[in-house]
Amino acid sequence: MERNKTLQELVWLCQKIGRKIDYVQGGGGNISVKLDSQYMAIKASGFRLDQVTEEDGYVIVDYQKIKSFYENVNLSQNKDYEKESLEIAQKSSLSFSGKVLRPSVEVGFHSVLDRYVIHSHSVYANILACSCEGRQLCYQIFKDKNFNFIWIPYINPGFSLTIEIANQLRSLPAEDKRPKVIFMENHGLIVSSDNLKEVYEVHERVNLLIKRWFKIRGRYPSCVLKQIGDNRYQSRTRFILDFIKSEKFEFELFEKYPLYPDQLVYINSSLYAENPKIEIDLQRGRVIYNAAYSEALATEETLLAYLYVITKINKFSLTIKTMSQNEMEYIKNWESEKYRKELLKKMAK
Ligand SMILES: [Zn+2]
Repeated sequence: MERNKTLQELVWLCQKIGRKIDYVQGGGGNISVKLDSQYMAIKASGFRLDQVTEEDGYVIVDYQKIKSFYENVNLSQNKDYEKESLEIAQKSSLSFSGKVLRPSVEVGFHSVLDRYVIHSHSVYANILACSCEGRQLCYQIFKDKNFNFIWIPYINPGFSLTIEIANQLRSLPAEDKRPKVIFMENHGLIVSSDNLKEVYEVHERVNLLIKRWFKIRGRYPSCVLKQIGDNRYQSRTRFILDFIKSEKFEFELFEKYPLYPDQLVYINSSLYAENPKIEIDLQRGRVIYNAAYSEALATEETLLAYLYVITKINKFSLTIKTMSQNEMEYIKNWESEKYRKELLKKMAK
């Protein structure tokens, strides 16, 4: 009984956050709810948040097992910790209704945080997380706002990120309140709380305060795709088309300014490939996706978010903080991301 109620809470959060493409794009972002003192339900890898229902799209893991792995891991050994952490996550997952899904790649930090965890790739948070002035601005924007936050400088996602978050939380002075808000440089936002209402409201509030600070008004653009052939879609999203027609656009933009991992996974890998899944036709001002609908949409949402964040950072005269060459290489070779992309393709069929 209790478990059903908690699953309903997970679905509610996933739907509330997942339907907003300014918060999450494609299969990005993830949400988890701890069911009791041992088990946690978390969005499955490769699923969109808005695909999570009581029957599908999530995995139940033994989060105590995962947590204890991170608490006890000996970092002085010469081994592939990333691989080991993936195996632990897989082994901690319960299979149900015959389905074998992988938990989200970020199951590590979900395991060490409070009962409810929202991790989004909010475009508003990413204006801060992808600019050199972002950290300092956070202190100004959230001063006197009744919640403390921590800032995590960019670190490879997966194992390293979880270790860093756990370390930062541990190193806080005991008299400090445990922060509910975590900004991850070149990545996004995490809000966690033991209270359902609070986790949702704090996530809303953080975004609202950033929008207010920058005087961002009006609705975030919607994505509009028009089918023009078999597995071929054309973007009708005004914001994107205006951007590529402007002098701000250059074809190398995405390689010059790598902002966060999902951009590399969804845009760069599709654009600079041998048979590009994204065609940007500057002459005719068109953007075309050679992919099934769900993949085209995921790419379009990621493209829109990226161009939006770049536009705002420029508009507010901030300095773009990019990922380094090494950090980019790591994502390109990341096994978890390959799995996520494969699953997206499979689900589209
Ligand atoms: Zn993320």
